[in-house]
Amino acid sequence: MGELIGETESLCPVCLKIIPARKVADSGKVYLEKTCPEHGDYKVLIWRRDARHYLDWAKGSEKGSGPLHSFTTVDKGCPYDCGLCPEHWTRACTMIMELTLRCNLGCPVCFASADASRDYEPDMEVIRGMYEATMGGVGACTIQLSGGEPTVRDDLPQIIALGREVGFNHILVNTNGLRIAREPDYLRRLKDAGASAIYLQFDGVTDDVYQYTRGRDLFDIKRQAIDNCDREKIGVILVPTLVPGVNDHQLGDIIQFAKSWIPTVKGVHLQPISYLGRYPHPPGDEDRITIPDVIEALECQTEGELKWQDFLPRHAQDSHCSFSSFFIMTREGKLQALSNLARGRVTGWGSSTGPPPEESSRRFMSRHWRLGEGCCESCNTGNFFDRVLNYYLTITCMPFQDVWSVDIDRLRGCCGHVVTPGRRIIPFCAYYLTNSSGERLYPSSLVDAITPK
Ligand SMILES: [Zn+2]
Repeated sequence: MGELIGETESLCPVCLKIIPARKVADSGKVYLEKTCPEHGDYKVLIWRRDARHYLDWAKGSEKGSGPLHSFTTVDKGCPYDCGLCPEHWTRACTMIMELTLRCNLGCPVCFASADASRDYEPDMEVIRGMYEATMGGVGACTIQLSGGEPTVRDDLPQIIALGREVGFNHILVNTNGLRIAREPDYLRRLKDAGASAIYLQFDGVTDDVYQYTRGRDLFDIKRQAIDNCDREKIGVILVPTLVPGVNDHQLGDIIQFAKSWIPTVKGVHLQPISYLGRYPHPPGDEDRITIPDVIEALECQTEGELKWQDFLPRHAQDSHCSFSSFFIMTREGKLQALSNLARGRVTGWGSSTGPPPEESSRRFMSRHWRLGEGCCESCNTGNFFDRVLNYYLTITCMPFQDVWSVDIDRLRGCCGHVVTPGRRIIPFCAYYLTNSSGERLYPSSLVDAITPK
């Protein structure tokens, strides 16, 4: 038995019916408990700290301002009406555009489950429609061009240029790095077309990690990709998918690696694994990495260079979705948190009198996830403000929800979305959600686009 600390709704992992759920504190941890009348009881670890910590963390939560325009109406209830529906609480910080299902890797760990047998790809006219739906539905958010693997498309530079033309000034390329490692010319064309930064899958600093997560040695390729970005002066965000027992012991090494590439590497964005696809048995506590686990590992594995108090809930949506932090590199080569010092000013985070939360998240990404203007070697000798402008590292974390952990209130506040060729906007965690047999709540929009209605 545990102590009830909150209530929400969730989904049955088998039949995907909406069912009530309870947040329960038990033995210094927080669980989501739910029962499907047909398929039984579920108890899922969501926070490996006590109830007080979980509730305190929520003090940063604030509802956003809702969509500018809804493309769907409320009918069956969240999460079945995504489009966004008028009951969504936030606009969008980030919009993902899937450009292909093709991939040049076959990863065991893949959100998008690229499927080469489906070869539909949106053409320029459809892509323009996706950009326009985004602009009309949520405004000028950060765009992430994704896949599959978007760099398999030779027309990616034109797609980026089109996004700039429609009015998006922060466009990231979400990639495994294979092509930009091998073809610096292609990378240059992405940059010249207006790409703001490379959002690079980066699971660790040794090949055994890549063997597990991606099925092959990739560390040298990652390093080459970053080196090419350094030459071309385009910023990089390292994006590790954290898997218990595989790379969660490398967090400290990943931070050290990122530091060695400042100012080209602008941020490390950590994504604890979520369980999408076919899982006949529910993942256990030991399969879960929660936000407190990540912070504790960061402090421990950097021997206190990074500290618990450096990491704050992002002032947006449901604060249990993420943390953010902003560090400058001191002359002694240490990371120094500015998170507490200058919250709301230097970092772009909101304050109670600031802009709505999704706007502050957008500013955070737009300011910090690109290479500073006029950045060069001599910046290293500059004053405090030069260092803040260029010699910094953001460390952020966003665990995605899966069918076991999904909390409908969190989903309603979700500010990472996917735009489909059919011009619908769907929260990321709903879009990729599958039941325990691997069937998706929402079919891949690219497959959907060629399936007769
Ligand atoms: Zn059920």
